[in-house]
Amino acid sequence: MTSADELLKRREAEALRIRASLNRQRGVQHSSIKGGEEVVAFVNESLCIGCDQCDIVCDDNAIELYKVKMRSPLMNVESNRKAKIIRDACTGCRLCVLACPTDAITTIDR
Ligand code: SF4
Ligand code: SF4
Repeated sequence: MTSADELLKRREAEALRIRASLNRQRGVQHSSIKGGEEVVAFVNESLCIGCDQCDIVCDDNAIELYKVKMRSPLMNVESNRKAKIIRDACTGCRLCVLACPTDAITTIDR
């Protein structure tokens, strides 16, 4: 019979396998997003959770966070924020694309 320890080890190994697989998929997805001077970052507001990661990694001060109202009155939090790209300052470096945990940022032609 499988012991609790063995089960735990199998679960950990499986969790690592799934994480590696998801990271691989994310890498493929990110590598297809264009970078460079001809593109500018774009935020899909509905996917943005206002976590600030993109703002932290952007060296060009091209991201601002602004407050929006919660869609549901049942959610009681002080502020709900979304990221906004300042187009003129954005260099298309894609750092924010890689940093965003919800894949809310992509690039579009300038
Ligand atoms: S692509 Fe680069 S410069 Fe543009 S917003 Fe993202 S991190 Fe900033
Ligand atoms: S990293 Fe992504 S989710 Fe976080 S604030 Fe920026 S766009 Fe929104």
